[in-house]
Amino acid sequence: VRITTAAPLCIGTGNCVNVAPGYFTQDDGTGVVVLLAEEVTPGDEETVVGAARLCPVEAILVRDAQRRLVR
Ligand code: SF4
Repeated sequence: VRITTAAPLCIGTGNCVNVAPGYFTQDDGTGVVVLLAEEVTPGDEETVVGAARLCPVEAILVRDAQRRLVR
């Protein structure tokens, strides 16, 4: 499972960082999301999908090994 972010969409709410701080942080200056890890550690999938669901602008995409969109 892999994560991609569409940083230009990000409005800096920090929801993803609160839910999954191991995967997301925010730029100190702009507040825009910064992806810390593209590859999701087994067992963390629900956490990462939860973070993606809480993004108000759908800037976080999560795909499975067949590149199908999980969220
Ligand atoms: S939840 Fe979405 S809008 Fe908020 S910081 Fe994360 S990527 Fe940006």
